[in-house]
Order: sequence, then structure tokens, then C-alpha cells
Amino acid sequence: MNSIVVNLMQVKQRIELAVLAAKREPEEVELLAVSKTFPASAIEEAMHAGQSAFGENYVQEAVEKISQLAKLRPWLVWHFIGPLQSNKTREVAEHFDWVHSVDRLKIAERLSAQRAEFPGLAELQVCVQVNVSEEASKSGIPLSEAQALCDAIAQLPQIVLRGLMAIPAPSVDPAEQRKAFAQVRECFQQIQATRLTDSGYQFFDTLSMGMSDDLEAAIAQGSTMVRVGTAIFGKRAKITP
Ligand SMILES: *Cc1c(COP(=O)(O)O)cnc(C)c1O
Repeated sequence: MNSIVVNLMQVKQRIELAVLAAKREPEEVELLAVSKTFPASAIEEAMHAGQSAFGENYVQEAVEKISQLAKLRPWLVWHFIGPLQSNKTREVAEHFDWVHSVDRLKIAERLSAQRAEFPGLAELQVCVQVNVSEEASKSGIPLSEAQALCDAIAQLPQIVLRGLMAIPAPSVDPAEQRKAFAQVRECFQQIQATRLTDSGYQFFDTLSMGMSDDLEAAIAQGSTMVRVGTAIFGKRAKITP
């Protein structure tokens, strides 16, 4: 198995090639390293290779690692990307910089109110998770309801609405893959276009889509942030959260 450093270089190369193929600019696509199930030492290794943004799915596990790496906190940006229950929002509001998986107003309201309890922290950066392959997943709001949810979240004081996140059902058919990503991009662009002058949408610039197996297709369809785990850290052991 390759080292994390080599894997990271290869993933960056894949991103570069995909960006070139899509005639986009390299700085348009950010890499989020998904470190769930891997220890703090793996995160540190990636950090020393220049990676600063890390994604985690399970609150307890993440908070443990964030405390273990407290000394490095100024150099790290923590993104929560997993399903989020109401009883876990406080810890997320306290420890994370970003949340990609907001799909209900109630969760966003709790995050905003709880973030206010930590006055030293900047506003929480939030993406609304949309569900493109509706039968396959229970997470995410249907595309048709995304704009209304965004409008409500954009008003919340301790939150900056950054964009949309999607996890399309895995498909071996590239045309299916492209179609799902394209639908999310169209929804994103439509919201951008209709909310151009709305101050709540000033930083609405993030399209979080694409993982180890489909980052090329996602970048071709406008992704601005790919969330990559396996291709950087290796295969995950099965865990039951
Ligand atoms: C685990 C996970 C990823 C990374 O998936 P890989 O296939 O390992 O790259 C990305 N996004 C979310 C939401 C995840 O849960």
C-alpha cells in the first residue's frame, strides 16, 4: 500500500487533470481529505504533506481527534460531513468550521444558536445537503426544496451559507453519474442566479461533490470541493457508528 503522502500527490494529480480536461482553473477545486475511521496520526501525516482541510462523519470520533490535534488547530480546517442528529449539534457547533450535511431548518437553527455560545469562534460555514438519487438515501433535501431551505438558512446569524453538497448514489454508468452531478450544479447555479443581490448569499460559492471513485465526473460538472477518503488514507475497516 502507498503512503498517505504518495496517495495525496496522486489525488492532487487526478484533480489537476480533471480540472484541465474541464477547462477550469486549478484554484477552483479544493480537496477535502476525509479522515473518518483513521487515527490522528494519519491526519498529522497528511498535514505535513500540505493538507489542511479534513472531513469527519462521526461526532464522537471527530471530537476526540480534534482534541488530540489541538496544538495544530490553527492550521487545520474541520468539516463535518456526516448525518447530523439534533442531540449532536452542540458539539459540532463547538468544534467544527464547516458543516456540509444540513438538510433541515431545525438543525441549522440549533447550530446557529449554539455557535453563539462560543463568541471566540467565527460563523459556521454551512452547505445544504441535497438528495439527487431520492430512493437511494434518506439524507438530503429534494432539489425542488433546496432553494426554500437555503433562503431560511441564509437569514441565520451565526451561519454563513456556502453552497450545496450531494452524494449521488454510486453508479458504474458514467452517463448516470454525470447526470446526477449536473442536476446538482443546475440547482446551485439557479439559486446563485436568482439570489445575486441577496446579502445572505454573498459567500454562496461551494459545490461539494465528488469522492474517490467519481471526482473526475464531479469536477467536469462544476464541483468546487471534492471529499476524498479512500484514495488518500486507504480502505476503511467496516465500523458501526
Ligand atoms: C466517507 C465519505 C466520503 C469519502 O468517500 P471515499 O469514497 O472514501 O472517498 C465523502 N463524503 C462523505 C459524505 C463521506 O461520508
